[in-house]
Amino acid sequence: FTLLLAVMSALISCVLCFYIITLRRHPGKELLAAIRNNQFYVVYQPVIDSSTMKIAGVEALMRWKHPEAGEIPPDVFIHFAETQNLIVPLTRHLFKLIAHDALTLQNVLPPGSRLGVNIAPGHLHADSFCQDIRSFVSSLPASHFQLVLEMTERDMLNEKVATQLFDWLHEEGFLIAIDDFGTGHSALIYLERFRFDYLKIDRGFIAAIGTETITSPVLDTVLSLAKRMHLTTVAEGVETPEQASWLCERGVNYLQGYWISRPLTLMQLVAAHDEPAKYFRSSQPSITIQG
Ligand code: C2E
Ligand code: MG
Ligand code: MG
Ligand code: MG
Repeated sequence: FTLLLAVMSALISCVLCFYIITLRRHPGKELLAAIRNNQFYVVYQPVIDSSTMKIAGVEALMRWKHPEAGEIPPDVFIHFAETQNLIVPLTRHLFKLIAHDALTLQNVLPPGSRLGVNIAPGHLHADSFCQDIRSFVSSLPASHFQLVLEMTERDMLNEKVATQLFDWLHEEGFLIAIDDFGTGHSALIYLERFRFDYLKIDRGFIAAIGTETITSPVLDTVLSLAKRMHLTTVAEGVETPEQASWLCERGVNYLQGYWISRPLTLMQLVAAHDEPAKYFRSSQPSITIQG
């Protein structure tokens, strides 16, 4: 058994080394080749409405399955893409993958479902941003989804440009979410300056519910601020029923997290539509996906 453990840990460190070495040497080339070779795919994490406990939409999350290194986390490859100036081709590829899944998504998600897509810092200010967004919209089944762009405050560097883009996105029918709220540096200022529709509370706050008494007043304040500003609230990283009921009691509009569902592949999402009990917490039998 000890031998097995040693062999396994050696194997794991080999794989890790390989992935660090190849990515560090030719990160750009590696990423472009991965796009060509179809190593990326998208998983969809359900988001539920806290007042009905029914699915209200999904967040699209990108995955990279590297043939040697295995799954590379998005935090890692998004950062690579940013530093290598490849965020635009990577996001275009993401849009293509979602468009490819769109008909199936339409069959398993009710009309009006929110489809959340993360916009990487930097893309908002790329020359092709509006064109990229336009072609994404035209590749989707018309008006079945309410598209939500999720951004962090790192995106809003150029205030004037960002303000104009937000106006344009609203005219085009998008909703805009401030993602991972509470982790950045000047998040409060951004709330005042930009027209956000959704506020996604970072899972750091949610994790502290019931464990650190100091965090609840902060979270309470964030929630009343969101209410006063007419922002729809989404709690991310909901992992326990205690967190879910705490959030429901305080009127948080949407819940997302492992307690509700892990991010699902397209096939799993279809299976969840057919047999919800298998994919959603059995302690929460009212969670359903309606077709
Ligand atoms: P995010 O947009 O805040 O996405 C939520 C992350 O939290 C996802 O991690 C999700 O799997 C994870 N998560 C969801 N529920 C729980 C939970 O209950 N507990 C815990 N511990 N984690 C939970 P993921 O997929 O690894 O993505 C990490 C980040 O990478 C995302 O954070 C987003 O900023 C970025 N990202 C992922 N996919 C894309 C993409 O397609 N495009 C861009 N630009 N960024 C992406
Ligand atoms: Mg997000
Ligand atoms: Mg988030
Ligand atoms: Mg996050």
